[in-house]
Amino acid sequence: MSQIKRVRGFQDIYGENSKKYRYVVDTARDIFQRYNFEEIILPVVEDVSLFLRSVGEDTDIVQKEMYTFEDRGGRQVALRPEGTAPTVRAFIEEKMFAQGGYKKLFYEGAMFRYERPQAGRYRQFHQIGAEILGTGSVLADVEMIKMVNDLLDTLGIETTLEINTLGSFEDRKEYIKQLKDYLKGVKDKLCKDCQVRMDRNPLRVLDCKNESCREATAEAPTLLQFLSPERKERFEKLKEYLSQLGIKYKVNPRLVRGLDYYTDTVFEFTTDKIGAQGTVAAGGRYDTLVKQLGGSDTPALGFAAGVERLMLLVDQLPSEKPTVVVIPISQQYEGKGLQTADILRKRGIKTELMLKEGSLKSKMKTAGKLGAKAVVFVSDRYEIKDMETGSQQEATSPEDMLGILGKVIT
Ligand code: ATP
Ligand code: MG
Repeated sequence: MSQIKRVRGFQDIYGENSKKYRYVVDTARDIFQRYNFEEIILPVVEDVSLFLRSVGEDTDIVQKEMYTFEDRGGRQVALRPEGTAPTVRAFIEEKMFAQGGYKKLFYEGAMFRYERPQAGRYRQFHQIGAEILGTGSVLADVEMIKMVNDLLDTLGIETTLEINTLGSFEDRKEYIKQLKDYLKGVKDKLCKDCQVRMDRNPLRVLDCKNESCREATAEAPTLLQFLSPERKERFEKLKEYLSQLGIKYKVNPRLVRGLDYYTDTVFEFTTDKIGAQGTVAAGGRYDTLVKQLGGSDTPALGFAAGVERLMLLVDQLPSEKPTVVVIPISQQYEGKGLQTADILRKRGIKTELMLKEGSLKSKMKTAGKLGAKAVVFVSDRYEIKDMETGSQQEATSPEDMLGILGKVIT
């Protein structure tokens, strides 16, 4: 019988990769929760119109990447290609705005885009993302960027942060006029896609990765000059606060992001370590999207990151070895051994209580194989052995034992 294979662009995540996947997602979850974001678990299938009306008809996602089909009830549905539009849909539909104030949500899960598969690019991939809905405060922009920065730092991923501001739609009107004029002059040098885009969505021409388009638009007017004083002031504040937090950034006036709904702040964390797929995490403010999808006027912003790309950049998984092995030196001290392991685990220390039966010597051998940093022998005292240096120290109270151990394992 012929063998059935996985569908092109889809992948099995197993072994080392499934560990990396969990590490990335669990780390993100921890950090989101530390920033007091609440999880939303979104449906995989949505009404096609949701993406047509939010992501934008001219975008790659809608033009050529969506998995759409008709269900048995004749509904036109899509496998979600991104998480912002579904989050906003849920925010409106579940009347989260009625709870007053603003809402901070995060999500995690599979996204689907029919693209050409290559390293770091799949048809089913996974994203983590977060949204803050209901506040226009520049502090929200700073917090979002800081949170992503914390995540990348924790994962040990080095990136460059690029920021830009797109102002309001009002600010952009005059600019777009001038940009269109400019683009008409260089039309011959633009790629086919951009020749179409330049009328319908000229900002996206600036975003084109094509070298000839980049050259042709190198001298194009920049949006910054067209911003109203309030918008400029807002951008200055953003930069000031990022600097106060010690976050390095580059202002990239060409950064417009692929989607249609952005206003004011946009940002991208990029790397040159994984070839052309250089964007690791990206986001921005979208003050008109909620209204556009039928909600009330609600300023908001968000970000998303590709889990597979983060996985490519994670070199080292946290150690799977126990930090400490607890060994009661005889049966008489087993009860105290259980209590000691409990004390250590309550302190968040990864602890193995020696379960092997037999001589103390064979237990010691097993402890060595487990690769712990320290062994605590339990008797009427505690003997703390540093497994790297072999040196041994004694303590009588649990507090003293913790004190000594703290120094050995850090
Ligand atoms: P790109 O320019 O690489 O296509 P994008 O602008 O389409 O990216 P977004 O829609 O902003 O990407 O999605 C955010 C993140 O999701 C990307 O930065 C990337 O890490 C990840 N991502 C997007 N498409 C894919 C894919 N097909 N496979 C794996 N990860 C992806
Ligand atoms: Mg894309």
